[in-house]
Amino acid sequence: MVKTKKWILAKKFDGKPKNDDFKLEEEELPPVKDGEVLLEALYFSVDPYMRGHDLSGLVGHQMIGSQVAKVSESKHKDYKSGDLVVGHFGWRSHTIYQVNKPAGAGDSKIKPYKLPDIQGLSPSLALGVLGMPGNTSYFGFLELCKPKAGETVVVNAAAGAVGMHVGQIAKIKGCRVIGFAGSDDKVEWLKKEIGFDAAYNYKTVDIDKALAESAPNGVDCYFDNVGGEMSSTVIRRMNPFGRVSVCGSISTYNDDVKPKATTVQEKVIGNQLKIEGFMVYRWLDRWQEGIKQNIQWIREGKLKYQETITNGFGNIPQAFIDLLDGKNTGKAIIKA
Ligand code: NAP
Repeated sequence: MVKTKKWILAKKFDGKPKNDDFKLEEEELPPVKDGEVLLEALYFSVDPYMRGHDLSGLVGHQMIGSQVAKVSESKHKDYKSGDLVVGHFGWRSHTIYQVNKPAGAGDSKIKPYKLPDIQGLSPSLALGVLGMPGNTSYFGFLELCKPKAGETVVVNAAAGAVGMHVGQIAKIKGCRVIGFAGSDDKVEWLKKEIGFDAAYNYKTVDIDKALAESAPNGVDCYFDNVGGEMSSTVIRRMNPFGRVSVCGSISTYNDDVKPKATTVQEKVIGNQLKIEGFMVYRWLDRWQEGIKQNIQWIREGKLKYQETITNGFGNIPQAFIDLLDGKNTGKAIIKA
């Protein structure tokens, strides 16, 4: 008999998530049946959507989330022991995965898939630069912002998984890139290691003055991970026919009562801006294209990645809390 450990959402979040919002439980798994495989988690992802989405219906149930897992027993012809699978199996150490089970109402739109050939890179990257955040950057930036060489791009949460990636794609496309992140160390790293043209600590600078300095001719593309007043400030500095890709609003996820921000409508109208939100699963049919392109850019030395790895299944809640507090640089990962 295999026992799984699993993290339960014990309470509805009230402001910032806390360790006692989660409860660790164990469950004995039944024997593996025909058409099923037994998976053992190797790496877990914690992501901002776990706070951005309303999880109140999940109280008393297992936390959601994606993982990279190894097949340890298979009763399905297409899977063998040792195969690696990427899937939204939640915060649990072992899973019986029924391969052809039809998707249920609460299931992730991104169905489990076998890890593609990632050319010897770490399987953990399937949760970051070669997975959902990587495809968010690739499709969400290129398809919505349609950047052109010579244009000025602004991205925030710039030292995180999506932000650092978008900034580098913008550089690959010949743009000038300005990033905002939450510490002086992150800012230095973005400029020295990742190749941003300018970067600022949004906690200590006047964002409008920073943009006047680094984008004197205005902003053409804005990849927005943060929302709130920062976005109003950036949008008010945009050029005619500028494009905004609204990816996230992490500055407001912990607030039950959403904050007010300066209006932007007159600028949106006057400058004929295009502002479009997206969910990355819009491009599910092109998922492997994004992964292939990102592998190629890594191989060509054009795309760097970074992971902040926390060790131990027991530390998943803390890693999630740390993510929302900005303690990660690059992708936040938990090694089981
Ligand atoms: P991440 O950037 O690796 O981690 C989150 C970062 O947000 C933290 O490191 C922190 O860095 C920053 N942050 C936290 N509170 C903030 C605040 N009040 N103001 C400004 N920054 C704050 O996470 P990620 O996975 O790459 O996600 C980035 C954004 O993309 C999130 O908004 C997420 O919801 C969104 N997203 C959307 C989709 C989609 O399909 N639309 C898919 C994936 C991700 P600092 O130190 O800089 O504060």
